Amino acid sequence: MSANTLVLDCRNVAAYYELDYGIRVRAVDNVSLSVRKGEIVGLAGESGCGKTTLMRTIYRDIAPPLRLVSGVVRLQSANGEFIDVYGLSEAELKKMRAKVISYIPQGSMSVLNPTSRIRSQFLEIFQKYGRVDKNEALRQVKERLRELGLRESILASYPHQLSGGMRQRTVIALATIMNPSIVLADEPTSALDVVYQRGVVEMIQKIREMYGTSFILVSHDMGLHYQASDRIAIMYAGKIIEVGNTDDVFKEPLHPYTEGLINSLPRIGGSKKLEGLSGLPPSLANPPPGCRFHPRCPYRMEKCSAEEPPFFTVGDRQVACWLLEGK
Ligand code: SF4
Repeated sequence: MSANTLVLDCRNVAAYYELDYGIRVRAVDNVSLSVRKGEIVGLAGESGCGKTTLMRTIYRDIAPPLRLVSGVVRLQSANGEFIDVYGLSEAELKKMRAKVISYIPQGSMSVLNPTSRIRSQFLEIFQKYGRVDKNEALRQVKERLRELGLRESILASYPHQLSGGMRQRTVIALATIMNPSIVLADEPTSALDVVYQRGVVEMIQKIREMYGTSFILVSHDMGLHYQASDRIAIMYAGKIIEVGNTDDVFKEPLHPYTEGLINSLPRIGGSKKLEGLSGLPPSLANPPPGCRFHPRCPYRMEKCSAEEPPFFTVGDRQVACWLLEGK
């Protein structure tokens, strides 16, 4: 697999919460996103914009009232074949998890079993997915901890005996022990202070370098994306509205919403007053017509409330905004 090989390809994915009285919450609406081998892609946007629902849809961790309405999620399997995640049987899906795709939901304590030592939690994964005996599994776990710079002594600990940062790094080590091609990490650094945040980012980058693992990092924290992501996708009200190389997007955001997110970031030594985004995101049960950002957009034009902007390509950037038409 070369570095340009796609490991994940989502095309026109729509996933809605279908509630009583015919209410449809369009949490993910016509989203396309691809991830290459060894790439770290950031998924950014305010809370409630559909980031977590998109991750759960990719992982096929959905149950009513959430439903995949349209689109395709394809992953590259270990033998190089592309598989349609929603075409798999339950048994095939189970086999693919951990070995091809791994999902780290928000909050390390919700992932770890509080009543079981870390050693047992690693061994459980080997029991489920590995084909080695207990001694060999333990040897591989210790070797992995050494490679990742984690103390072997954590194996004897219960989750509550570890610091928040160590717990989160342990969760990442657990999620990657079977060498999946891609890891979906939802808010991996939330509730951690800056020092622990850096430790988590360094560990993710190390895993990518050592094992060629790809990541989607979900976070509302633009600072995390700046530090960690190669490419960034910005999501607003259920849609991706800008995708591009992280440095380029931070240097020159092209979508007005991206500009608002970046302008609200504090800068070291900056004396300029922060300009945050005004207004609130729309209800996903009844999103505004045309561009969903138009009620908050300082640059809106007449066309914006009437017609949804398609993606315009600017260099290697994709931007869904009428301002980019013909540029
Ligand atoms: Fe603003 Fe119009 Fe662009 Fe939407 S399409 S972001 S309303 S300028």
